[in-house]
Amino acid sequence: KENMNDHVVIITGAANGLGRATGIAAAKAGYKLLLVDIDAKGLADSKKIINASGGVAEVYQANVSLEQEVIGYVTYAMTVFGRIDGFFNNAGILGTTTPLTDTDVVSFDRVLTVNVKGVFLGMKHIIPIMQKQGNGSIVNTASMGAVGGLPGLASYSASKHAVVGLTKVAALEVAKSGIRVNSILPGTITTEMALKDVPAKTLAEKEAILAMSVPQGKAGKPADIANTVLFLFSDVSAHITGITLPVDGGITAQ
Ligand code: NAD
Repeated sequence: KENMNDHVVIITGAANGLGRATGIAAAKAGYKLLLVDIDAKGLADSKKIINASGGVAEVYQANVSLEQEVIGYVTYAMTVFGRIDGFFNNAGILGTTTPLTDTDVVSFDRVLTVNVKGVFLGMKHIIPIMQKQGNGSIVNTASMGAVGGLPGLASYSASKHAVVGLTKVAALEVAKSGIRVNSILPGTITTEMALKDVPAKTLAEKEAILAMSVPQGKAGKPADIANTVLFLFSDVSAHITGITLPVDGGITAQ
């Protein structure tokens, strides 16, 4: 087993869902963490959970789509930890669920701004640090919506296709610097984002509805994403860069 002590990871969208789950798993694996999110309360809860189990986590409240705030969290990570080995570029929003023709421009811009500009800005400011170090692994969160279109989610699907494009460009530009850049495509994972609009009362009923669209017959857990991110951070995946990796129980194989 690799020793991850002294390796530092930044996670955006770390106040909830996949970001928090990955933070918990990364802390258990020995990484030191900077948790970034716009949601201060959720960030504090994530930090408390991680610190209570012996992990090292600092927090920084930022909007990932504002460049000064991105510079703020990157600078803070360097001040506190002095290096950045892994970056889980994960914050994202779903936006409104309407047909394309009913999607208003403000909502379209908002989704593209968080999901695309946020991912772009994180890489823009972290890659130079990783280049100086000569190492680093970046994992961008796209979605199964980056493979097929998701009806009712035009801006979201467009934004996640863009994340895959950004990932491939970045991977090629830094391939010789010892830095790897990959995107993951979560399918149906039981986070707040996936569960909130499911038309059922109990959690079990909601999970059963989500499971119907998954070939494996069950929705994914946040830990399934966390494990994949840790694999991509680790040297076990040393020859993997520029890939678009579904973590979806078979959805995109259909
Ligand atoms: P979530 O809503 O639980 O978490 C997203 C986090 O991002 C929240 O903590 C939110 O506060 C934060 N965030 C939103 N806008 C931000 C901004 N401008 N600046 C900083 N932080 C911001 O959702 P999740 O399911 O954990 O989603 C995480 C990522 O996974 C997203 O990119 C999402 O599109 C993607 N995804 C999720 C699923 C799923 O089934 N849950 C499927 C495919 C893709």
